[in-house]
Amino acid sequence: MKLTFHTQTTQAQRSAFVCALQQTHVRHVVWHDASRCITGVAMWPGHEMLVPDMIAQAETLGEVTALHPDYPLASIDLKPSGHVQVGAHRIGPDTLTLMAGPCAIESAEQLEAIAVHVAASGAQFLRGGAYKGRTSPYAFQGLGAKAIEMLSTTAKRHGLYSVCEVVSEVHLPAYLSCIDVLQVGARNMQNFTLLKAIGQTQTPVLLKRGMSATYHEWLLAAEYILSHGNPNVILCERGIRSFEPMTRNTFDINAIALMRTLTHLPMMADPSHGTGQRALVGPIAKAAVAAGAMGVMCEVHTHPDRSMSDAAQALDCSSYQQLALALNVLHHVMTDSVSSAAAH
Ligand code: PEP
Ligand code: MN
Repeated sequence: MKLTFHTQTTQAQRSAFVCALQQTHVRHVVWHDASRCITGVAMWPGHEMLVPDMIAQAETLGEVTALHPDYPLASIDLKPSGHVQVGAHRIGPDTLTLMAGPCAIESAEQLEAIAVHVAASGAQFLRGGAYKGRTSPYAFQGLGAKAIEMLSTTAKRHGLYSVCEVVSEVHLPAYLSCIDVLQVGARNMQNFTLLKAIGQTQTPVLLKRGMSATYHEWLLAAEYILSHGNPNVILCERGIRSFEPMTRNTFDINAIALMRTLTHLPMMADPSHGTGQRALVGPIAKAAVAAGAMGVMCEVHTHPDRSMSDAAQALDCSSYQQLALALNVLHHVMTDSVSSAAAH
């Protein structure tokens, strides 16, 4: 359940309620307004674990509403929409977040050359894989720990934030010291040990949808991270496995619109893995923004055909720059039409 305190409730009453709650086994999160006053508290599981006195008290102190029983913290019942702050950048409905870079970091020179174009395109994030979970054990596995360092320093040099996939909790300390956004890949969406470990940090996380995960399973994966204490979760649709072999995956545009009705978590799109073909990346990126995606992640390379992984879906740098421009225009049209419609 969610308790939003009435404005006339005193700070002492609010603190007393939270103190009493701390004496119970009910798990909860407390939120504050800008002045650090306690404004509300979410409790889960629901009413059944609260002593009747406390429920009665809650009803006098504020407005009590139900939260989704399976994913109370990820649910839209908690709040209509939210954002995740990364440094000075806000990922959420008001801004279009662009993340771009190679599938895998191949060398410092490769990353530097790509980063120049990513920064020039107006993207805010440089991406690049350090540990690549490849289908074949003989395929390039990534440069590992030294790539994390390269990504961090290269991104900083260009005024970009970094986003990098973490495949094991064993690697987490190396990421936490220098990476701005942790990515959980499709293959690890239900790696619960990893989700719990990331949940114990405050570092923002981009949680990709598993390739055959339902929306419900995806939200439960997000709930793992949220319920372990990390509120900074961003979702990313990256295509699902369907019966169609002509594209690598089937980008699920429904997910973008539907998730916005189920959760307050910011929603991004990855049209590179969603299609697997560079000619489809632009159209699907635009469709995702038109459907309400708050950001787009793309794979970009200075020599796409020479990419050591995912070459077929890599965009060249000038195509990416044009796409980034088009996506920003589209986002402006979308947000302007929404705000001008609201004014009428
Ligand atoms: C990636 O972004 O490089 C990646 C491996 O993505 P996914 O987990 O969506 O396949
Ligand atoms: Mn890739």
